[in-house]
Amino acid sequence: MNPGEEFVHDGTTWLRVSCNERHNRPPVRVVNRTTGDLVRVSQDENAAFWQWAVVETLRLAGLRAEELTELSHLSVRQYQRPNGEVVALLVISPSKSDRERVIPMSAELFHVIAQVIRRHREEHGTVPVCARYDLHEKVWSEELTYLFQTVHSGSQRGMSSTTVWRIVRRACNELAATHPEFANVHFAPHDFRRLFATELVNNGLPIHIGAALLGHLDIRTTRGYVAVFDEDVISHYHQFLARRRAARPTEEYREPTRDEWEDFQEHFDKRRVELGSCGRPYGTPCAHEHACIRCPMLSINPKMLSRLNELEEDLLARRKRAVEEDWRGEIEGLDLTLTFLRSKREQARRFQRSDPVSLGMPAIPHQKPQATDR
Ligand code: SF4
Repeated sequence: MNPGEEFVHDGTTWLRVSCNERHNRPPVRVVNRTTGDLVRVSQDENAAFWQWAVVETLRLAGLRAEELTELSHLSVRQYQRPNGEVVALLVISPSKSDRERVIPMSAELFHVIAQVIRRHREEHGTVPVCARYDLHEKVWSEELTYLFQTVHSGSQRGMSSTTVWRIVRRACNELAATHPEFANVHFAPHDFRRLFATELVNNGLPIHIGAALLGHLDIRTTRGYVAVFDEDVISHYHQFLARRRAARPTEEYREPTRDEWEDFQEHFDKRRVELGSCGRPYGTPCAHEHACIRCPMLSINPKMLSRLNELEEDLLARRKRAVEEDWRGEIEGLDLTLTFLRSKREQARRFQRSDPVSLGMPAIPHQKPQATDR
């Protein structure tokens, strides 16, 4: 649709209006022909995307606002297990008040991070390199490939924690506009961490195991990453991590023992269940009595969608019998299970519909990390 042309959407006539033609990709703006209202489509879509990405990353990874703003493309790692399975990891840099975290990503979290990378790649060809102003330290960072960026005076900049707060506040206001019961509820970024902690406490891998794994991955991936990023960007990222690690107690980074390493490997085997994979945190047992279909930790393997249909049929037959016998408690339980089943099926179909996303990461040959015999 070119500027000056009209189109009809959902019974309303809109006019595409011209805007800054000097822009590489002129933003889309339209005027409602009935009310005369101007809608900044590109701007609103961009704001909605980043609002979704910020809220979902805070919610699914249990991050603080500062931790979110420090995520970079190099925070996304992949570890290939001896059996070929690839585990996506998110590295949360250490700070003075909190230790480093290496989180095996759930399917939902991975989806959000992949969409952020896809957006940068579609717009810039890669995740742009930019600096970020640290409001606490009052210094500019080295230029890194920050995942969360904003445009300031026409140039890319790492998102500040103030912007994260502003985005969360805007999400609350928009929610209150359609759900007045939330009018006096004010969320802060940290509330998502609390919400997350009520669901599960995901502190990632024990840090000495996470650090050993990263050390190993770094040695092997640095060369591959040089093909993707400027060498300076990689060394700035490693220097940044090393500076932060130096501020932490050294015992956090001791060598893992062989037993600890084996436990780490076993964790991923134990997460395989009939319908897909269980995303429960490292070192935790199943807290939901293996009622996977009702459990928020379950990610459905798309290959098992037909099995979900069979389970649904079975539940419907049981519900029919329960109605005939007037087993009201049973009906309530079956209805709840059916609701979970259908929402998981919808989510799995949604993931299946999304195109593959190139994360811009180098291919990594498998090699086993070292563990000590202590
Ligand atoms: S019930 Fe939940 S936590 Fe337990 S094994 Fe199933 S998916 Fe994992």
